[in-house]
Amino acid sequence: MAKKIVLLPCSGIGKAYGEIGRQAIYEAIGDHPPAEITTTCLAKLMIDDPEAKQLVHENMVVTVDGCARDCARKNVENAGKKVDKALRVIEIFKDHRDLKPEGVLELGEPGFKLVHILAEKLGREIDCLERKEQ
Ligand code: SF4
Repeated sequence: MAKKIVLLPCSGIGKAYGEIGRQAIYEAIGDHPPAEITTTCLAKLMIDDPEAKQLVHENMVVTVDGCARDCARKNVENAGKKVDKALRVIEIFKDHRDLKPEGVLELGEPGFKLVHILAEKLGREIDCLERKEQ
């Protein structure tokens, strides 16, 4: 069976950049067939859930962290899997400083523009990983 790509956001509760990463992953998942892309809950990896560990070990993994603490990437690596690509929302924001999210619960128009930019970047990374896998 062909490998899927697991898109994994950090939990980032209460942080606008964590919310942007999650929203961008939902958008990227919506743009691709479920046979190619999936996700799971980061907390399941943190509690050593066997199904979540199997999912990341058997497939390609792209993490999206809100900030440089890299919680998603580190938890995947703690589970013994090297990520195939690690993105940070804060790095995307550095290239688009005019798109400052308005708040955590209401990202506002600038925050959602950042979501779309990140989702497009995720789409390019997905295409790149799929080409490598062929
Ligand atoms: S990477 Fe940053 S935003 Fe995400 S959960 Fe960790 S500390 Fe929070």
